[in-house]
Amino acid sequence: MIFRKAVKEYERKCAAAGVPEETVMAYLVEIANQERCNLYMHYDEEMPAELEARFHAGMKRILNQEPMAHVLGYSWFYGYKFAVDGDVLIPRPETEELCARILAGIDRFFPEGKVHCVDIGTGSGAIAVTIACEEPRVVMDATDISEEALEKAKCNAETNGAKISFFAGDMVKPLIEAGRKYDVLICNPPYIPADEEMERSVVDFEPHVALFGGSDGLRFYREIFRDCRSVLKEKAFMAFEMGWNQREAMSALVQELLPEAQFEIRKDMNGKDRMLFVYFGIEDAVQ
Ligand code: SAM
Ligand code: GLN
Repeated sequence: MIFRKAVKEYERKCAAAGVPEETVMAYLVEIANQERCNLYMHYDEEMPAELEARFHAGMKRILNQEPMAHVLGYSWFYGYKFAVDGDVLIPRPETEELCARILAGIDRFFPEGKVHCVDIGTGSGAIAVTIACEEPRVVMDATDISEEALEKAKCNAETNGAKISFFAGDMVKPLIEAGRKYDVLICNPPYIPADEEMERSVVDFEPHVALFGGSDGLRFYREIFRDCRSVLKEKAFMAFEMGWNQREAMSALVQELLPEAQFEIRKDMNGKDRMLFVYFGIEDAVQ
């Protein structure tokens, strides 16, 4: 079959199945290991048999709502490649924005010397690996309650050349036990309310321990706000991802549990409330 025909056919099938049509070219680019413009240059030629077989097999799974990252076995995040499977959350583009903001915060508030950071609930290791690779002054720890996730994160740290110390356990507890103190605490906790309706591609294929944060989605923020002072230095900041509809509840929670802190909620590139930054012992942190 020629490229053009195969792509058009699957784009039609995707539209009918409610899968984004862009997935077809995105998948082909990955398995052909070619730039998109190269594929277009050969658009009216026959697909090599091996590629065609792999394309059909993969598209069959994608049409069944399986995430492309699972079919490929990896996902790209901040330019780094992360092995993923059903044991870890597929890292999301909005989390790349969180990383960029954290790196800017490190530059601004800790411009010199080592910076001790922790990524709680590291999953694939996306945040921890990215921050450690992008800022060599960072000394990075990462935790997860899932042993399977920690295994994946360790592999991803190794393949990307990031040096990270890993801890297994519930939120900040293993860090308190180990007596760790941080300049920067990062967490993208599960924040989806337990009864929220979700797409099949997420709810059927991604680990529920990575998604759901109790009845209001705020369970893990509550726990961290309550315990964080034991693992933070006097001057420190915390960075969280949050749900787009949690601004009011989140603001109330920070004011209630961390009255001494300054905080701000920032929007993602889609204009949605997505990131919470909380500052301790930093004057004029919020401008
Ligand atoms: N940090 C990754 C990212 O941003 O792509 C994964 C975030 S995922 C939303 C939340 C992660 O928290 C999952 O890896 C999950 O296993 C972990 N987790 C869930 N409950 C936890 C707990 N009580 N203590 C530590 N980690 C937990
Ligand atoms: N943004 C993720 C989703 O769409 C949820 C991640 C989280 O709970 N932290 O499904």
